[in-house]
Amino acid sequence: MIRKLLRKVFARRAAKPILPGEPARISADQHGIRREQVSRAAIKVCATLQDHGHQAYIVGGAIRDLLIGQQPKDHDIATSATPEEVRALFRRSRIIGRRFKIVHVPSGAETIEVSTFRANQSAETDDHGRVLADNIYGTQAEDAIRRDFTVNALYYDPTTGIIVDYHHGVADLRQKTLRMIGEPRVRYREDPVRMLRAVRLAAKLGLIIDPAARAPIREMATLLENVPSARLFDEMLKLLMSGNAVRCIEQLREDGLHHGLLPLLDVILDQPAGERFIWLALENTDERVRADKSVSPGFLFAALLWPEVTRKWQERQSAGEPPYPALFGAMDDTLDTQATQLAITRRIAGDIKDLWALQPRFDKRTGKMPFRLIEHPRFRAGWDFLNLRAAAGGVAQELPDWWDRFAHAGHDEREALLRAAPKDEAPRRKRRRRKPGGSGADASGAPPATP
Ligand code: ATP
Ligand code: MG
Repeated sequence: MIRKLLRKVFARRAAKPILPGEPARISADQHGIRREQVSRAAIKVCATLQDHGHQAYIVGGAIRDLLIGQQPKDHDIATSATPEEVRALFRRSRIIGRRFKIVHVPSGAETIEVSTFRANQSAETDDHGRVLADNIYGTQAEDAIRRDFTVNALYYDPTTGIIVDYHHGVADLRQKTLRMIGEPRVRYREDPVRMLRAVRLAAKLGLIIDPAARAPIREMATLLENVPSARLFDEMLKLLMSGNAVRCIEQLREDGLHHGLLPLLDVILDQPAGERFIWLALENTDERVRADKSVSPGFLFAALLWPEVTRKWQERQSAGEPPYPALFGAMDDTLDTQATQLAITRRIAGDIKDLWALQPRFDKRTGKMPFRLIEHPRFRAGWDFLNLRAAAGGVAQELPDWWDRFAHAGHDEREALLRAAPKDEAPRRKRRRRKPGGSGADASGAPPATP
C-alpha cells in the first residue's frame, strides 16, 4: 500500500507530459459487456494472475469486438507479472518471442496470449523513426499509450467487470471513430504497418478513420517499403482474409495506399481487364469468411494474381514461346515481382503454382487426360478456381459444369461425356470449317485472352 502510494507520488513527479491523467473506469452496466460473453479461459487466467498479487486484464481486440457486438477471434491478456512469473503459474505455458517475450497459455481449444505491461520510452528507432526494440516493461498507463488506436487500449477486469479506459476508447467506439493514440505521423513513422491496420480495422468494425489519422496516410505510404516483407505479408493476409477484403481494398485505393506500395495492389487495382475477376475473387472470399468456411491463402493469391499471369502468358506466347513453358515462365515472373516486397511463404507459393498450372489442363477433354486430372490431389481446388473464371466470364460455364459431371459420373456416362465434349485441343485445322460470318469468338482451349 505504502509502496503503491510512494510509486504514485514518484510517478506523478517523474511523469512525462505525454502520460494521461486518471483513466475512466467504466462499469459493466455502463459498457454492457456481460461476463458470459467473455472467454472462460481468459477469465480463469486473469483470476489466477490476480490471486497471486498481479494486475491482469483482458485487453485489445477482444474487448473492442465485444463492445461492438462482434465475436472476438482471440483473447489477449495484459499483466503486471513478468513473463517468467506468468510461466511459473501455468503448467503448460510457453514463453515465446525474442524481441518482446510473451507467454502462451493453452486452455482447452484456446491459447491465451499473456503479455507484460510494456513501456515505450527507451525504444530504439531506425533512421525512419521505426521502433526496433522495445523490450522494457512498464505500467498499465504506459502500456496503454504505446497501443495504436484508442479502441484497442481498453482493459477489462473480469473480476470487477470494469473497463479501464485511458484514451476515451469507449466513447470513440460509440462515435464510430478510429482514433490514433498520440500524434498519428509519429506513430506511423514508428510502425508503418499501423496504416494498414487503420484501414483493416475501420473496415472490420465499420468505423471512420479520424481525419487526423487518415490524412497523413497518403504521403506516408512509402514508409511501408521499410517494413520487412514477411510482416507485410502477414498483414496483407489478415486484411484479405478479414471478411471485409472488398471494403479494405476500396479504402486503400481511396487513401492512395496502393500505388507503389505493394506490387500486388497495383496489379489488383490497375488492371481493367482483370478487374472483374479480382473483385469476384474478393467477394467470394468475403462470403466464405463470413459463412465461417475455410479460405486458403493460396487460392486467394492465385486469384488476385491470375490476370497478371494470363497477361504475361499471352505476351510470351505472342513472342513465340510454346504454351506450357510460357505459362511457367509467366508464373515465375509474377511471383518474383511480388517477392520484392511481399514474402509469400514457400508453401503458399507452391499452392498458387499448383492452381495455375492446373488451369490449361481443364481444356483437355480427350483420351486419358481427364481421368488423370480428376485424380489430381488439387483437382477440387483447381475446379473451384475454374468456376471463378467462369463466373467472371473468362471461360464458358459449360466447362466447369462438364468437369463436375465427369468427376461424379460412372464409367458409361464418362465415355458419353468424352464423346460429347468439344475437342478443344484438336488441331486448329478442324475449326476452320466454321461458317463464314460466324462470330470470331473462340471458345477453344487456347489460353484465355482474359481471365
Ligand atoms: P484483430 O485481432 O481483430 O486482428 P487486434 O487489434 O486484436 O485485431 P492484434 O494483432 O491481435 O490485433 O493485436 C492486439 C493488440 O495489440 C491490439 O488491439 C493493439 O492494442 C496492440 N497492437 C497490435 N499491433 C499494434 C501496432 N502495430 N502498434 C501498436 N499496438 C498494436
Ligand atoms: Mg487480436
